[in-house]
Amino acid sequence: MNNSKIWLSSPHMGGNEQKYVQEAFDTNWVAPLGPNVNGFEIDLETYLGENVHVAALSSGTAALHLALILLDVKQDDEVICQSMTFSASANPIAYLRATPVFIDSERETWNMCPIALEEAIVDRIAKGKKPKAIIAVHLYGMPFKYDEIKTISQKYQIPIVEDSAEALGSTYKGKKCGTFGDISILSFNGNKIITTSGGGALVAKTKELKDEVVFLSTQARDNAPHYQHSHIGYNYRMSNICAGIGRGQMEVLDEHVALRRENHYFYLNFFKEKEGVNVLFEPTQDYFSNHWLSAIELDSYEKREALRLAFEAENIETRPLWKPMHLQPVFSNCPYYGSDVSEKLFDKGLCLPSGSNLKEEEKNRIKAVLELFF
Ligand SMILES: *Cc1c(COP(=O)(O)O)cnc(C)c1O
Repeated sequence: MNNSKIWLSSPHMGGNEQKYVQEAFDTNWVAPLGPNVNGFEIDLETYLGENVHVAALSSGTAALHLALILLDVKQDDEVICQSMTFSASANPIAYLRATPVFIDSERETWNMCPIALEEAIVDRIAKGKKPKAIIAVHLYGMPFKYDEIKTISQKYQIPIVEDSAEALGSTYKGKKCGTFGDISILSFNGNKIITTSGGGALVAKTKELKDEVVFLSTQARDNAPHYQHSHIGYNYRMSNICAGIGRGQMEVLDEHVALRRENHYFYLNFFKEKEGVNVLFEPTQDYFSNHWLSAIELDSYEKREALRLAFEAENIETRPLWKPMHLQPVFSNCPYYGSDVSEKLFDKGLCLPSGSNLKEEEKNRIKAVLELFF
């Protein structure tokens, strides 16, 4: 029996990526600028709509770092961040020597809880510091409660940084994720819904802001014949080779979303009849998730571990949900608001194989493990 590894989420090429990369070689645009970078940015702008301006960067983390710089986050400032997320959402706060203030999740989308968010803002202001930004994440592709979070952002005049690293192709009330933040970011790392082998983007609302991102991400060179600098710059621009992969991937993005959503329905169908398993799904018609990763919550930690190990024994990769940032040793001294929703999800939750390249035969192997287990 074939026992080759089934990955949680692996790169899935569409076919034309190499054509764009070959073009880059043929024209010697082997550099962090060129026609593929421009083309990829236009592809993303067209896809997202809403008159956004996209700057292609070396990673989603770099995009978050620049987003916080653009929002003037400095040493000793406070930045609010969803606790249940990948560490890359929070690390850029630390790069700037600012303090993250972590917020619990709500039960429906597993994203930032609006009630805990407002409680945190009120308390931080009472303690003498108004947070500089709110980093909200669409976990596993599931849109966060945008209307509620936006209302709070407006009430207290604190901008939203939308971490849409996992949610390209998701929508909320018909609008694409990646267009909701005052500043938004995307990631094209190897495991994401589309990949450039490594890369990211910052989505800006104005051309001026995008130009500033390009300026900062290419070492902040002033307009002079020699190297003249009046700002600290970064080497964060995307390479024209990687952007070529991105252009090929954009051609298959919608197909990948459809395939990931099929995986979700495959699991949803299986668990429909099972007691004690809760699948992450859209709470209302307003939400449309790309279902980047299909995730479930079991009724205990022990059961979650048993299932994870049952998959592991069959060479099938699964992964516990993101460990909340307020439980991470590196952030243990940071303020936290909420209760134990994200902690419980972490204890009992599991991400299942979700690649858009999962084969029928692989799904059968997954189903066999599930059937034996339940
Ligand atoms: C992947 C990811 C990032 C970081 O993106 P990179 O391109 O890997 O730097 C940020 N936030 C979330 C939620 C992610 O999943």
